[in-house]
Amino acid sequence: MSLLEVERLETFYGASQALFGVSLAVAEGEVVALMGRNGMGKTTTIRSILGLTRPRGGRIDFAGARIAGMRPHRIARLGIGLVPEGRRCFPNLTVRENLVAAARRGQWTEARVDELFPRLAERRDQFANTLSGGEQQMLAIGRALMTNPRLLILDEATEGLAPVIRRDIWSALRTLKAAGQSILVVDKTLAELLPVADRCFVLEKGVTVFDGAPQALTSELQDRYLGV
Ligand code: ATP
Repeated sequence: MSLLEVERLETFYGASQALFGVSLAVAEGEVVALMGRNGMGKTTTIRSILGLTRPRGGRIDFAGARIAGMRPHRIARLGIGLVPEGRRCFPNLTVRENLVAAARRGQWTEARVDELFPRLAERRDQFANTLSGGEQQMLAIGRALMTNPRLLILDEATEGLAPVIRRDIWSALRTLKAAGQSILVVDKTLAELLPVADRCFVLEKGVTVFDGAPQALTSELQDRYLGV
């Protein structure tokens, strides 16, 4: 059974429908890529899974629980950690304080986050608002890991980051994958995303139009669904 199972999700913003039937699944230990051009519904799908925007139709099961309609804090507590688009951290807390504030019991500790992101460890007493964008992204990932999530969700994992930082983030994701962490990731850099993904889902206009292995996402399909 999958850790996360989303079936025929329908979500609205007021009267305007954004999702018309999104289905996807993440098995335990899998890295799943959620793809699609701008405005196709990736962020809305993530918001729906987390209960931040309540879906009106469809089914979401996480770790055996029906979570569609549950409050966001309850869903998070079941073990979903989010690294949001725009990497929100507490600006007036230090790196260490940001991590500690998120901590929940489990294998992820400050020491392990330091190991994953040595660059962050060097800045542990700096305020979050003095970090570069890339360092803030590392901190956002660190914070999500400190909640010891069964599923880590990253919305736009590397958008707007410098190439050397992107490399560090992808390398961290590979480390997490090797450690068996289940991950759902949105990103536009296919060259980095596809090799790390076990499975891909592509959205078009709020509907899942592709579900398969990264190898099955041919350049023709990439052009059709992801090209600009
Ligand atoms: P991007 O890659 O640009 O972040 P996305 O695939 O994440 O795009 P969504 O942000 O989920 O797409 O948007 C899906 C649809 O919902 C779009 O048509 C968008 O205009 C609409 N939408 C998103 N947020 C809102 C909102 N707060 N109110 C109304 N419509 C919204």
